[in-house]
Parts: sequence; C-alpha cells; structure tokens
Amino acid sequence: MNTTDVLVSGSGPTGLTLACDLALRGFTVRVIERRAEPHRESRAKGLRAASLAIFQDLGMAEPLIATGTAGVVLRKYFDGEHINDTPTPADTGLLIGQWQTEEALRDRLAGLGVHVEYGAELVGIAQDQEGVRAELADGSLIAARYLAGCDGGRSTTRKLLGIPFEGNGEAEPAMVIGDVRAPGLGRDAWHQWFTSEGGGMMLCPIPGTDSFQLQASPEHDDHGDPLPPSLESFQRIFDRCAGMPSIRLEDPTWLSSWRVNVRMATRIREGRVLLAGDAAHVHPIAGGLGMNTGIADAAALGRALAAALAGPEPDADAALDAYEAERLAVAAGVLADTAERYERVVEAVRTPGRGTEVGMD
Ligand SMILES: Cc1cc2nc3c(=O)[nH]c(=O)nc-3n(C[C@H](O)[C@H](O)[C@H](O)COP(=O)(O)OP(=O)(O)OC[C@H]3O[C@@H](n4cnc5c(N)ncnc54)[C@H](O)[C@@H]3O)c2cc1C
Repeated sequence: MNTTDVLVSGSGPTGLTLACDLALRGFTVRVIERRAEPHRESRAKGLRAASLAIFQDLGMAEPLIATGTAGVVLRKYFDGEHINDTPTPADTGLLIGQWQTEEALRDRLAGLGVHVEYGAELVGIAQDQEGVRAELADGSLIAARYLAGCDGGRSTTRKLLGIPFEGNGEAEPAMVIGDVRAPGLGRDAWHQWFTSEGGGMMLCPIPGTDSFQLQASPEHDDHGDPLPPSLESFQRIFDRCAGMPSIRLEDPTWLSSWRVNVRMATRIREGRVLLAGDAAHVHPIAGGLGMNTGIADAAALGRALAAALAGPEPDADAALDAYEAERLAVAAGVLADTAERYERVVEAVRTPGRGTEVGMD
C-alpha cells in the first residue's frame, strides 16, 4: 500500500487550507470527504484580513478579492424604520460566501494535483510508531505518516480518539439561517432589522450571487417550541420585522438553524493524529471567528507537520507538541472572546441604531 505523507479528513476551509499548504511544500497529501459533492452554503461569510494573508501565501487570494466585498455597510432598522448606516473598515477583510472560499481553495489544490475524494468517510483509525492506517466506510484502508482530523464540530476523528469536547451548549436554536433571493431589496448593504419586542432578521447580500444570507430569531409554536426553518417562516418573520410587503423571499438554497455551543477538545494531538478547526473548538458566530480560527489552525498545523516530516523523531514530537500548546491556548481565548461578543450583540440590538458592529473589532 502506498503511504501518503498526510491524510486530511474533511474538506471544509480548515482541511483545504492545510492540504494546499502541505502540497505547496512538496509533501504528498490526500483529502477525504464524507459528502458526495461540495456544498453551496454561505455559512461563515466574513473572511478576516489574517485569513486573506494566509491565502495570499497559498497563491489563491485573487479570485476571492475579485468577487468579495470590502467595507460592507450595515444598514440598521428598528421597528421597521431605517435608523442609520454603519460602514465597516475596508481593511478588516472580505464579505464572501463560505462555499466560494472553499471553491477557491479546491481550485488551488487541483492546480497542485490534489483532488478531494468525495464519498470517502473515515470510520476507523489505527496507529503505530511508523504511521496511521485510516479505515473508510467502504472498508478500504489508507496509509499515511500523519492524519489531520479537520472533520468539523461532530468530528469522527475526535470521537474515534476518545477525546472529550468540553464546554456547554443550548438545546434550542438561537437562530434560523439560510440562503434566499429577495428581488427588489438593495444589494448595497447588510440589512439588519431589530424590534422592540425582541429578536430580528438580517439579510446580507452574498457577492457574486443574487442571494442573501438570512439570519433570524426563530418563530415558536403555541407550545413555545421553535419552528424549523422554512421559506414560509422566513417570510412571516421578514414581514413582521421589515414591513416591506413588496419584497417576497424565494428560492431557498440552504435552510438551517444554529445553536449556541461553546466547547473545545481537551487535547488536539494523539501520537500521529492531530485535530484542527471546528473539530477542535466551536463557539458563537459573533465576530465571525469560526472559520477564520480554523484557517489559522491549518496554517500552524502545516508548519508543524512540515517540521515533523522533515526532521528526526525528537524534532517531530517537539513540533507537534508545540502546535498543540499554541492552538489550545488560542482556542481557549477565542471561546471566551466570542461568548462575550455574542452577549454584547444580543444586548446592543435592543437599542435602535445598533447592530452586529458591536461584536466586531
Ligand atoms: C449551519 C452552520 C452555520 C454557520 N454559520 C456561521 C457563520 O455565520 N459565521 C461563522 O463564522 N461561522 C459559521 N459557521 C461555522 C463555520 O461554518 C465553521 O467554523 C467552519 O465551517 C469550520 O470549518 P472546518 O473546515 O473546521 O469544518 P467544516 O466546515 O464543518 O468541515 C468539515 C468537513 O468534514 C467532513 N466530514 C465530517 N465527518 C467526516 C468523516 N468521518 N470522514 C470524512 N469527512 C468528514 C464534513 O462533511 C465537512 O465537509 C456555521 C456552521 C454551520 C454548520
């Protein structure tokens, strides 16, 4: 069996960034992905300047800069009335859909001769002094010198290693999310409607598309249970918050809900297996640090694995231990920081004219 230098499990922003980094350094890398094909969900839409700098080093920032929006304007409404517009600084990053970021990473990776292997689900891990054997759901095996678990918040890698994911989470969704079209609504601003009753809705134009990312407080049924996301529910919330009867939401290409979860792995290294991104930490979305922290993890893990693959065994251990120490400390800081940002936003939107800017730096 051929042995690849690094097997990456998961083709989200973290896994793709790591794979590009390693391939550019000349290592052999394979990327396995449980999904049958790429998704087209806007999810984390704020690409920070630090992530763009990493992408510039990887040689794939240009298509994102060409498509994305710098310096988005936040348009705040309260009880349906337009209160103010707040521009965000142009040098803090880019507004761009997560699927577009992933597409640019995949294109760069393909240019380096690596193609994501879809429909390939990691189900088992064995390791010894020499390397790792990964078992896939179809029974096939992949041999690698190292395995990077970049497989998201419900990480199979983390569970197979028995690593606790400590912290807390809420049972009920705090938000319904989706991608919709809203013909007639201006695409020059991120619209943020809040109400004196509490709750609200935000519609953010995703550049290079004709869709908006929708985020809203969920509706509840007569028993007080949250209603699942649906176009009909989105329209009712929009009508109540925005009061713009001429705007009809349509074509929902993504419907989801989001729960507050503040958790991190107690370890991110087990021998030759490492964790990065949401597999290692999940936290509130205020400030848009989820994907960006994963991209920074990937850059750090690329450096550590390069040192480990190049050096003798003691150096490899030191490099991987240093990765773990550095990124666990960062994750702990991000958990505390985003939990606090989230509280700040929830509190601020009760005041007319304030919005998500209070959660940004
Ligand atoms: C519904 C939703 C809404 C979000 N909204 C926002 C937002 O508005 N702002 C923000 O900053 N962040 C948001 N996030 C978080 C952001 O999307 C994540 O922080 C980011 O995607 C993390 O990237 P990742 O690569 O670490 O993990 P992921 O993007 O989760 O990628 C993990 C990949 O691993 C694959 N995988 C899982 N198990 C296996 C397996 N056993 N074998 C092979 N492959 C596997 C998955 O299919 C997936 O493609 C949202 C996340 C979700 C789920």
